Amino acid sequence: MQLTYDEFSDRVAKITSQIEAASTQAGRDPAEVELLVVTKTHPATAAEYAARYGLRAVGENRVQEAVPKRAECKASIAWELIGHLQSNKAKLAAEHFDRVQSVDSPKLANHLARAAAALGKKLPILLQINAGNDPAKFGADPERAAALLETSLSHDSLQVDGLMTIAPLSEDADVSRRTFENLRTIRDTLASQFSRPLPVLSMGMSGDLEIAIASGSTQVRVGTALFGHRGKI
Ligand SMILES: *Cc1c(COP(=O)(O)O)cnc(C)c1O
Repeated sequence: MQLTYDEFSDRVAKITSQIEAASTQAGRDPAEVELLVVTKTHPATAAEYAARYGLRAVGENRVQEAVPKRAECKASIAWELIGHLQSNKAKLAAEHFDRVQSVDSPKLANHLARAAAALGKKLPILLQINAGNDPAKFGADPERAAALLETSLSHDSLQVDGLMTIAPLSEDADVSRRTFENLRTIRDTLASQFSRPLPVLSMGMSGDLEIAIASGSTQVRVGTALFGHRGKI
């Protein structure tokens, strides 16, 4: 274990003040922006640190990695799936995650809904939209967002909290900004079209969280800025 709790706590405090500064600058209430600690590639201790700090949830990008980690984790915290999910793992995901952020097709929504219904649970989800039109990224095409929402809303076993996106990897801050503003516009359009608030906008990571907050993010997903490059903890 290379990162002590005190070091982790200092880094969270630093990110939190970054979030506060960006929110204030954008004329927003910092309480509207949540920090999701991304624990992928790090041991269960990372999630225990997040719980000890008082954070609500951690993010993991692979089901196979998260399931044993959650079983090992001694603290109580919510687990959110932020990585691509194949339909054949929908059952496992519905069982072991408190929210799935990577719902990117009606087919996947149908599988998750069936699995959640069998578990007698209403599964919170986000719809992942490829708002940067990045061929290298997962997520539904923006033109398909309405159909995806319609399918998701048709299931009583799913609760659609909002949208998620990942900005294309780019040195150009404008690429991230356009992606995030596009996601917010898509959310606003869908919210009025379907008369649903869709309050959650999960967007922004270590490198672009300020831009995301300026564009309306309500959840930034941060790994590297807390734990260093992956595999270090
Ligand atoms: C890994 C990951 C993050 C965290 O990215 P960092 O740059 O390490 O902060 C956020 N979102 C998703 C979907 C990820 O897979």
